[in-house]
Amino acid sequence: MTDQTAASPRVLVTGGAGYIGSHVLHALTDAGIPAVTIDNLSTGRREAIPAAVPLVEGDMGSAELLDWVMRDHRVDAVMHFAGSIVVPESVVKPLDYYRNNTANSLTLLGACLRAGIDKVVFSSTAAVYGAPESVPIREDAPTVPINPYGASKLMTEQMLRDAGAAHGLRSVILRYFNVAGADPAGRTGQATPVATHLIKVACQALLGRRPPLAIFGTDYDTPDGTCIRDYIHVSDLADAHVLALLHLRRGGESLLLNCGYGRGASVREVVRTLEEVSGEQVPATFADRRPGDPPQLVAGADRIREQLGWVPKHDRLDGIVRSALSWERSLEQSVGQAGALGGSASRS
Ligand code: UDP
Repeated sequence: MTDQTAASPRVLVTGGAGYIGSHVLHALTDAGIPAVTIDNLSTGRREAIPAAVPLVEGDMGSAELLDWVMRDHRVDAVMHFAGSIVVPESVVKPLDYYRNNTANSLTLLGACLRAGIDKVVFSSTAAVYGAPESVPIREDAPTVPINPYGASKLMTEQMLRDAGAAHGLRSVILRYFNVAGADPAGRTGQATPVATHLIKVACQALLGRRPPLAIFGTDYDTPDGTCIRDYIHVSDLADAHVLALLHLRRGGESLLLNCGYGRGASVREVVRTLEEVSGEQVPATFADRRPGDPPQLVAGADRIREQLGWVPKHDRLDGIVRSALSWERSLEQSVGQAGALGGSASRS
């Protein structure tokens, strides 16, 4: 660490050991922006955190810990990733989700106000839209979440808006669509052993590390009968976070932005792309629809480009799939050792 970075204010990244948080820490470090992270390592990995970033291992729900970190590290802004992210789990354990997502965010915002921090970048989700009537989904579409995960995030959005009006706290709320892929330099990726996300699951099936991919539903009202999603490369998403932070540090106003490319790909297209990239067949079976899956989720993606000047660099589906596969291959050794370890899947 240089003297200059020691003297500069830091951005506090909650959940920096996780999939998206660790990519953002690398993007911040690449941009020369000092950061500190809090993570309880319940699902994240210490190795995912860049060496230059201090890790405070602890509980996000502790106001005392947050007060101390904010003071001790001269924090001027917060990026909030930590939380629970598995939709089906949120249905069976809703209160865990309201505690880990909504209540912990409340604690975090209280600490921000005590510390005089007025800048927050928040990880929200397209799940706040529920099952939209039409695509692309613009930011002003109705928010009618259909599961506790989406509801827990929407409540935090509301707290940010209200704290903005009452206390001048400025926020950039980023609603993620389907985040996938891995750092092109191979420094981090999605490491959860038991995943539920399509691209990761398909890569694991291809590598023979799990049973064949079940394609959930082939009778949707879409061109090839399978669901359509807007897959966004995690490194493009990380860049959007850096731009959001810089916007707030420049004194920019609060923003609500979808994070997607405005382009959909079907499940069959994803599978076909993985087969083209790998030259191998993906073992797959056709299964019933998965409850709660809307046929199409595609972002209205103009606003983020206009407001932040965000220009995606990794928006080709083959590149997303290739980076996910090469990350998965790099994990083969360690996952082999971990065997059938339990754990929660990661969700954007
Ligand atoms: N999907 C699938 N098989 C799987 C996992 C996902 O067919 O093993 C489908 C799922 O039904 C949805 C799409 O892939 O249509 C994306 O699902 P994912 O869980 O990756 O993200 P979600 O859109 O649910 O957040």
